[in-house]
Amino acid sequence: MAYKIGVIGTGYVGLVSGTCFAATGNIVTCVDIDEEKINKLRQGICPIFEPGLDRLLVHNVEEERLFFSTDLAKTVDQSQIIFLCLPTPPNEDGSADLHHVLNVAEQIAKIIREKNIQDKKIIVNKSTVPVGTAEKVRNILLQYIPETLFEVVSNPEFLREGLAVEDAMKPERVVVGTRSKWAEEIMTELYKPFVRTGNPIIIMDEKSAEVTKYAANAFLATKISFMNDLSAYCEKVGADIDKIRYGLGTDSRIGKMFLFAGIGYGGSCFPKDVRALIYSAEEHKQPLRIVKATMEVNEAQIKRFFDKIKNRFGNLQNLRFAIWGLAFKPNTDDVREAPAFKLIDMLLADGAHINAHDPEALENTRRHYGDKINYFTKMYETLNNCDALIIVTEWNQFRTPDFETIASKLKNKIIFDGRNLYAIDQMRDLGFEYYSIGRKEVRQE
Ligand code: NAD
Repeated sequence: MAYKIGVIGTGYVGLVSGTCFAATGNIVTCVDIDEEKINKLRQGICPIFEPGLDRLLVHNVEEERLFFSTDLAKTVDQSQIIFLCLPTPPNEDGSADLHHVLNVAEQIAKIIREKNIQDKKIIVNKSTVPVGTAEKVRNILLQYIPETLFEVVSNPEFLREGLAVEDAMKPERVVVGTRSKWAEEIMTELYKPFVRTGNPIIIMDEKSAEVTKYAANAFLATKISFMNDLSAYCEKVGADIDKIRYGLGTDSRIGKMFLFAGIGYGGSCFPKDVRALIYSAEEHKQPLRIVKATMEVNEAQIKRFFDKIKNRFGNLQNLRFAIWGLAFKPNTDDVREAPAFKLIDMLLADGAHINAHDPEALENTRRHYGDKINYFTKMYETLNNCDALIIVTEWNQFRTPDFETIASKLKNKIIFDGRNLYAIDQMRDLGFEYYSIGRKEVRQE
């Protein structure tokens, strides 16, 4: 059956989830406090770059299944299921800032009370939150309305930016944290069209669902940090991290994914979720030592990459560097906690100048750096007058570039590759000086 759904928070998660729920026949209203965003969406303009989303969005708006609004009260009134897809940014101390989630929960409770709404609703938390948040939301609701009028469900989201529509339409698993049979049945019915190939809807208690999300992100981040830690060791002993990755990843117990050494993880999730999990563990006097090491290795890795540049040039004052890739990963325009920004900050602090290019994230970068750096829409133009090229994000178009053009435009034939995109032998043969991660340096004597 088609449900009436309200999605509160129309960002990467809310907009994708809302659109996909509409795509399976539900009537969905996405709410946001950002009026400009809602106005754009009403005109069919997608405010984020996410492959496949714009077309699906416009189609569902045209079919009158997907609506956008700033009116929380009206949306709460008409929705049977209300998804909270709100930001949970890090506080200074690393803990998750829950004020968006808890404030909206309180607003919803007040609306239900003031409008005297009697239909029982499911309040679903899709934001990534520390253990115990579902209980906090429930307690806030109970201050205003009786428990007969709602259930709180924890339904963490696992979509990946860049593949978000695909992930939302065909999730490998759906985790639903609830102890209510009524809510379980509705959530199962809602997600049925998304798991037709047999992927599981895993029902558990709310706390376990909350921890599952943090555990998944922390584990993936740990795989990355493990390889990055090993990459430093490889550089010392003369081994090649990419060969080791093949050797490791072909073991099915280990798996091939998330084994690429690089300049560390970034983005809107891993850094904050790892920190929030560490915080929660310490708060409960049960430190998670491996997760802590994961964070420490990640912070050291970008510095290690910067040191390669610093060691090569000594003084960076007035040198100019071309940076390819600003988004925290390919196929997104998201620059939150992007490793590129950390590197740019270090380069600027040392007096260097920056020419920056990214296929999708230039606007978001400009919003952050203003006129402190130069922006280029064309990848090769970025290289003019630069002392070296630095590759930060592995967009596909950087994988097989025209090396002759690179060589002709750069002042020096030097590449710092934070993603190991090129073969060592090829770089040597082409006459480049080449520095990558966990592999031998190529110097032209
Ligand atoms: P986002 O910043 O892209 O979007 C959040 C939206 O909520 C914004 O549009 C903001 O204007 C809106 N908002 C803030 N306060 C509001 C309010 N009071 N009422 C209505 N709207 C409000 O965030 P996101 O990336 O979509 O992440 C949302 C949550 O999902 C976070 O907890 C995040 O950790 C989690 N998550 C994110 C991803 C991802 O890939 N981005 C994946 C899985 C889980």
